[in-house]
Amino acid sequence: MRLDKYLSDMGIASRSDLKKDIRKGLVFVNGEMIRDASFTVNSDSRILYKGEEITYEEYSYYMMNKPVGVLSSTEDRKQKTVLDLFSECHRKDLFPVGRLDKDAEGLLLIMNDGKLAHTLLSPKNHIEKKYYVEIPACLEDKDLEPLRKGIQYDTDLVAEPAQVQLLSANPDKSAVEIIITEGKFHQIKKMFLALSENYVVTKLKRISMGNISLDENLSPGQYRKLSPEEIEGLK
Ligand code: URA
Repeated sequence: MRLDKYLSDMGIASRSDLKKDIRKGLVFVNGEMIRDASFTVNSDSRILYKGEEITYEEYSYYMMNKPVGVLSSTEDRKQKTVLDLFSECHRKDLFPVGRLDKDAEGLLLIMNDGKLAHTLLSPKNHIEKKYYVEIPACLEDKDLEPLRKGIQYDTDLVAEPAQVQLLSANPDKSAVEIIITEGKFHQIKKMFLALSENYVVTKLKRISMGNISLDENLSPGQYRKLSPEEIEGLK
């Protein structure tokens, strides 16, 4: 791998700044100053940048508190994506694991480990996803029963039984916590609409996915690296 790519993958600085820094002599490989950004390095190379040792990680894992109004995709010509919220110098091979709708918020995992992402998204692995949902109606617990049994939505889809809890009910707004193991397009919104055409989801926030819960210290748009324990728990 090229020296400038190695360093930019580790989120040290942007590739163009790194090229300048390498030319200035700020990078040492195995004790030798290297001024050529295309110099080949590998995982055994000992690399110092401005005197600090940089260890290469093949995979990077983050959680983001996705804000409303941002797309869960890697790039878009017109609209802001979750990767636009990362600092300039992030590694370029990151992608979000699955999608949250533009008007949905909360936990989004972002990584560059395609195999783990596939495992997390595969329906056969039944990874639990917990959501907080608001509905502009006064719900009773019995209204939610069809969701617990497995409700038919669209014309031909049947949702697997969900774990559902009514958190609060007021005359014009109710809050529900729902856990599903599937992830079909607009699934939660459609499940509530299948109960009643009046149950239009007005707030949808993902709280957890598998063993990972949204870090409450993250404001909308903020992200952090997963801890080694969190990564291990996902595998
Ligand atoms: N269900 C939805 O309707 N939207 C999402 O973004 C996630 C689950």
